[in-house]
Amino acid sequence: MAKLPTREDLTKDADLCVKCGVCLPHCPTFALHNDETESPRGRIALVQGLANNQLSPTPKVRESLDHCLSCGRCESVCPAQVPYSRLMDGARFILPTTPARTVRKRRLTARLLKSPRILRILAQLARMFRRTGLHKAFGPDSAAGRTIAWLPESITIARHTLPVNAGATALIFPGCLTSAFEQDIVDCAVRIGERLGVVWQEPQKSLCCAGLYQHMGEHAATGSLMTMAVDELAAHPHLPIATVLSGCGKSLRENLAGADTRRAAQVRERLVDIHTLLLQSFDRKFEPVFAPAREPVAVYLPCSISAGQQQHLIRLLNHVPGAQVHVISRGFGCCGAAGDNMTTYPDTADALVEPLITEAVGLGVSRILIPNLGCAWHWRANLRRRNAPITVCHPLQWLGAHLKTNDHAGAGAIING
Ligand code: SF4
Ligand code: SF4
Repeated sequence: MAKLPTREDLTKDADLCVKCGVCLPHCPTFALHNDETESPRGRIALVQGLANNQLSPTPKVRESLDHCLSCGRCESVCPAQVPYSRLMDGARFILPTTPARTVRKRRLTARLLKSPRILRILAQLARMFRRTGLHKAFGPDSAAGRTIAWLPESITIARHTLPVNAGATALIFPGCLTSAFEQDIVDCAVRIGERLGVVWQEPQKSLCCAGLYQHMGEHAATGSLMTMAVDELAAHPHLPIATVLSGCGKSLRENLAGADTRRAAQVRERLVDIHTLLLQSFDRKFEPVFAPAREPVAVYLPCSISAGQQQHLIRLLNHVPGAQVHVISRGFGCCGAAGDNMTTYPDTADALVEPLITEAVGLGVSRILIPNLGCAWHWRANLRRRNAPITVCHPLQWLGAHLKTNDHAGAGAIING
C-alpha cells in the first residue's frame, strides 16, 4: 500500500506554508482554544521542528498535534495549497505525535476494532445491556456508560452479506461499524436502491475504510486493511462502489490516494457517495417512491462530506414530498467526533458539539439526520445527556421510513434512534 513518507517529504510539504494565517479562522480547535499551537499554521511549524530534529516531542507538542481533528477545513481555504491532510497523516505515521499515555489505549482499541468477530460480540453485549437495563448501572461518564449512550435504542447486527449477483449494478460498502451495530442503515439503503432499480451486491468479506487507524497513526494496520479492501473490491471491476458513511468515503479516498498500484487507483475511481448514486438512480427513474413527510427535520453535514456530496444529499432528501430540511450550521466547524477524538479528548469533543446541539434544540425538530456514524454517535450521547427530545438517524433511515409500501398505503420502516 502507500509508502511511508520520509522526514524530507514532510519538510517539503510543510515548507509550502507561507504563514499567512488565512486558515486560522476556519480551524475548530483554534476557535475553541485561541492558541497558535492549536492552529494549522502552528501545527505545521511543530511538524517542521520535529521533522528537522529542532524540536523535542514534549507532551505539549504531542497534544497540540494530536488535537487536530483532520477536518480538512484549513486545506480547503489555503491559498498556498499546503497538502495539510497528507502532511498530518504522514506526521502521525512517522513522528512522535501521540501523547505517551494515549499510545497503549489506541493500540488496544485498534486490535479490538480490527476483528469483525470481536465487533459482533461487543454489539451483542451492548444489546443485552440495553434490553436488560443493565447499562443504567454504569455511570454516564464511565467509558461503558458513554459507549452505550452512543448507540441507538435498537442495535441491529448484520447476519449475512448480500449474495453474489451476476446482474449487480452497484457494490455497497457499509463500513465495519455499521454492519456490527446499525445494520438497519444498510437494510434501508438496499430497499431504497431496489425501488430505484439498483441491483446491489456486497463485498463478501467485512471491509474497513481504516479511517480510525489513519487518525491513530497506525500505518501497518491502515495498509493491511487497504490491501484487503482492494483485493475484494477489485474483483468487481465494473461496479460503482457506494459508501454508506461519508467518513468511510473520505478515508478510502485518502488512503487509496497514495497507493502505488493501478488496482488501488481503479478502486478509488469507482467510489461514490451512496446519496449521489441514489439521486442519479432517482433522476433516471423518476417515480414517486416516497410518502409525504409530516414534520421538519434537521441535517448535520459532517466534515467528511464534500460540497458536491452535500448538494446531492439535500436534493435526495427533497424528493420526499413536503420535506422541510433545515441544515445545521457548522458551529466551530466540526462536531468533535473526529476519529477517536471523542474518546481521547471527550471534554474538547463535547465543547465542539455543544453549540450545534443548542441550534438543533432551538429548531424544535424531533429528528436529526447525520450521514456519518462517529458523528451520529457523538451527537446522540450528548443529546441524551441533555435530555433533548431529538432522535439521531442516518438520512437513509429517514428516507427508508418514508418509502411507500408496495400497496402505496404509506410509509415503510420505523426509525429507532
Ligand atoms: S493558509 Fe496555508 S499557507 Fe497560510 S498559514 Fe494556513 S496552511 Fe500556511
Ligand atoms: S484539519 Fe481541522 S482541526 Fe486540524 S488544523 Fe486543519 S482545520 Fe484545524
